Amino acid sequence: MKISVVGTGYVGLVSGVCLSDKGHDVICVDNDVDKVDQINAGKSPIHEKDLDKLLQKNIGGRLKATTDLKAAVAGTDVSLIAVGTPFDGNEIDLSYIKQVSADIGDAIKDKSGYHVVIVKSTVVPGTTDTVVLPILEKHSGKKAGKDFGVGMNPEFLREGVAIQDFMYPDRIVIGGIDERSQDVLGEVYAPFAGVDVLKTNSKTAEMIKYTSNSLLATLISFSNEIGNLCAALGDIDALEVMKGVHLDKRVSPILENGERVTPALTTYLEAGCGFGGSCFPKDVKALIAHGKREGQSMALLSSVIDVNREQPREVLDRLYKHFKDIKGTRVAVMGLAFKPGTDDMRESPAIPVVNELIEKMADIKAYDPVAEEEAKKVFSSGGVNYCSSVEDALHEVDAVLILTRWSAFENLPEIFKRLDINPLVIDGRRMLPKESVERYEGIGISL
Ligand code: NAD
Repeated sequence: MKISVVGTGYVGLVSGVCLSDKGHDVICVDNDVDKVDQINAGKSPIHEKDLDKLLQKNIGGRLKATTDLKAAVAGTDVSLIAVGTPFDGNEIDLSYIKQVSADIGDAIKDKSGYHVVIVKSTVVPGTTDTVVLPILEKHSGKKAGKDFGVGMNPEFLREGVAIQDFMYPDRIVIGGIDERSQDVLGEVYAPFAGVDVLKTNSKTAEMIKYTSNSLLATLISFSNEIGNLCAALGDIDALEVMKGVHLDKRVSPILENGERVTPALTTYLEAGCGFGGSCFPKDVKALIAHGKREGQSMALLSSVIDVNREQPREVLDRLYKHFKDIKGTRVAVMGLAFKPGTDDMRESPAIPVVNELIEKMADIKAYDPVAEEEAKKVFSSGGVNYCSSVEDALHEVDAVLILTRWSAFENLPEIFKRLDINPLVIDGRRMLPKESVERYEGIGISL
């Protein structure tokens, strides 16, 4: 099948590369010339495990990148829209979606055959049918359902394990205005035999994505609120509390042979310094705004965001407990990306923590295995000394803040011993055993 993917970021590039690897002919379209050049040169513009390898395997063969959207639409049967849908402070920003819909509509106008347009970006319920479809009709002068098809296919990949998630999906949601559109989308996923497929309308497909992300964000804020309460009450460690909760057989079922299943969901039921990334914060906020417009109070999800906004403060408060005057305090920040396995800094909890330390003129060193370049864009006015290794960052420090759960930080206790140092550790991810270092503070233990 011939597929064009418009927008070649995390979702578009991973989708394009994986679909070409599965046997489709894929053209990736982006309006960023540098990205297109990099992709054609076999170099991924983003850090994602195995992406470079798979890109190099397919580029120039079944995979190409271009800035020419019109030619890409003309030469393919189906276009997947994977441009960004940021939150503009009030609501979802659909400007990229609208622009691309107009461009695809213009291209369909001059195309003789039937074409299907699939929204893969995360968009609030109703967007595909009431925003994308009318723009396509206006610009093509053609009729949806007759001359071209329209559908919605939410993406569930997680950054850091995006290739794995795309190649071995847990579900495929196929939304569409009619059976023909759904069937074409079904063909795109034909190489993924055995995966649960849910066929529905586009609005439901859109809602499934938001509901999935909102559930996970809710579990995290719930765990953080409980963790903060444990810390306030004293003599309770939220880690133990959550372990006790994980052992509920409705959370971690016991099989007939007595074996315990520990679902991945339990990793969302742990106290930490908050969620970030390109999806949870913006998607929950967009759903709240969308719901409020429909007259819903959205009280629970509003609290999920409120709890998360305050959560990085738990790290700072623990630092201030030990250092009354932060100016000149030597702080090593371990981890800047919003989670391990990615260089994505979007909405990372490290941002408010580091910004406040910069403002208070702390002496900041930071180490992240892959996010340094992205971090430099975020903290562009300086104030952070980037280090090339954990050891480098530990040279003459008073406190160590763990903000990302990179496995490289698991060895911190041994490294302290080797370097014969004894800094205060504030574990924002509860990844070190609390007895493993002498001076330990963690989220969910009393301040
Ligand atoms: P991104 O910002 O990494 O990529 C978007 C790409 O679209 C960029 O390369 C940009 O240059 C390109 N673009 C913008 N306007 C264009 C235009 N007019 N023509 C051609 N290209 C254009 O975004 P992302 O993280 O890949 O997210 C894309 C969508 O997928 C969003 O709706 C997001 O919510 C959703 N999503 C993201 C993830 C994730 O983990 N990142 C997971 C699931 C769903």
